[in-house]
Amino acid sequence: MTEIDKKQDRSPVPSVFEYSPAPESRDVVTLEDRYGLFIGGEFVEPRSGEFHPSVSPSSEEELAEVSYGGAEDVDAAVGAARTAFENGWSSWPAGERAKIIYRIARILQERAREFAVLESLDGGKPIRESRDVDLPLAAAHFFYYAGWADKLEYAFPNRTPRPLGVAAQIIPWNFPMLMLAWKVAPALAAGNTVVLKPAETTPLTALLFADVLRQAEVPPGVVNIVTGDGRAGSELVKHPDVDKVAFTGSTEVGKEIQRAVAGTTKKLTLELGGKAANVIFDDAPLDQAVEGIVNGIYFNQGHVCCAGSRLLVQESIYEQTIQKLKRRMSNLRVGDPLDKNTDIGAINSKAQLERIQELVRSGEEEGADVFQPECRLPEKGWWFAPTVFTSVAQSYRIAQEEIFGPVLSVLTFRTPDEAIEKANNTPYGLAAGVWTEKGSRILWMAQRLRAGVVWANTYNRFDPTSPFGGYKESGFGREGGLHGLEAYVRFE
Ligand code: NDP
Repeated sequence: MTEIDKKQDRSPVPSVFEYSPAPESRDVVTLEDRYGLFIGGEFVEPRSGEFHPSVSPSSEEELAEVSYGGAEDVDAAVGAARTAFENGWSSWPAGERAKIIYRIARILQERAREFAVLESLDGGKPIRESRDVDLPLAAAHFFYYAGWADKLEYAFPNRTPRPLGVAAQIIPWNFPMLMLAWKVAPALAAGNTVVLKPAETTPLTALLFADVLRQAEVPPGVVNIVTGDGRAGSELVKHPDVDKVAFTGSTEVGKEIQRAVAGTTKKLTLELGGKAANVIFDDAPLDQAVEGIVNGIYFNQGHVCCAGSRLLVQESIYEQTIQKLKRRMSNLRVGDPLDKNTDIGAINSKAQLERIQELVRSGEEEGADVFQPECRLPEKGWWFAPTVFTSVAQSYRIAQEEIFGPVLSVLTFRTPDEAIEKANNTPYGLAAGVWTEKGSRILWMAQRLRAGVVWANTYNRFDPTSPFGGYKESGFGREGGLHGLEAYVRFE
């Protein structure tokens, strides 16, 4: 075609621009074929003799074999943590402890790409999120708590804080590195030692973290990592030499843990499920609010305890909001977690996919209208298209139960009082969002919402200085900020 022909070409501009693949290289990650348990500063064979593969949810590829710790392994790990606690860590000069935690933070920053790629491979989340959210925030938590390590007397004025001892920390699969940081950083800053139990489906970044501990010269036994399934978690909770239990996961297991520690002197914090309401008033900046809705529910495939899984829209702007939301959803890209253009990655496990499918079926059966944008899901792996339910009644399971997937339920309200009533009408109380132009309305709402975190004109913002935790069936205790530090000390 000559230049003149090109100028006269009247074929329409394509309405959809295809993205070229932009895969992040996985070469930065070196995996062992098989991992032992990290106890007393070294990898040891599990006494249980049990190994299981950790599988990539986006390809079903077996990435590595991981040990499943049993009662004897847990006992060895708690023993190593106790020895490290008694033999120095708790009485080290606080400045030295701080130095080590700073080192961990800096090494995490230096190795962020490696960790982000492994997080996406093992857990299925988009690299954009593991690279821009999980890893920077994990490092930020270590930086923040390193700062407190030698200032504990200022953190709690007129009181004398002392470490608790051995902390048992059980974490879920939705934010493996971030949850590790939320738990390990304050525990170390306060002078405790740790036994960490990562989730069964996402153990690999915690095992890589063992390498960071060695690199940072954390004394042997200060952090021990016992991989495995719920049995290892249960053994850890029951162990008589544990002083503190910190758990993030389902409400069901949280209740079991609470029963197991009842009648003991173990301190307990539980960060459990949620069914957060994202409330949009008619004076909200609508385009911005739609971005907030999308971020609230489709971030990390909706595997987020504080996900804005119930959208409450003021009736007068309902049609407009749903129209904009559906249009925006049609632009979400579902696919390879390692592709930098991907918005929604793989569902973490087959079991979780089945749970999502079951709840979505119940929504259809109960009478809600379902919408999913057209999108081609990869053939291998576990996937679920972004989904929105309208015509939802408050009694439907999809409006009451935690789905923990990319599924949004939309309800409407007319007055602020009605919004509060509906927002608080769940057994949970972890988070909420409010979208309005009026500052006074934000404050009015925030005082009445029974939620540990209330975001205003934004959603899913996290900061190490800010406490996070819930009411009601979302658990108790706070992580982050000074509150998070207090959970790891006793006062003399
Ligand atoms: P779980 O609560 O079972 O898992 C959380 C952690 O606890 C994992 O490390 C798990 O090990 C461990 N665990 C399991 N059973 C016990 C036990 N009896 N004692 C001590 N530790 C135990 O969550 P699931 O993975 O089963 O997910 C189920 C549902 O929970 C999801 O659909 C979602 O609704 C909710 N959930 C909420 C989370 C949150 O952040 N609030 C996080 C994860 C899930 P293992 O991985 O081996 O099972």
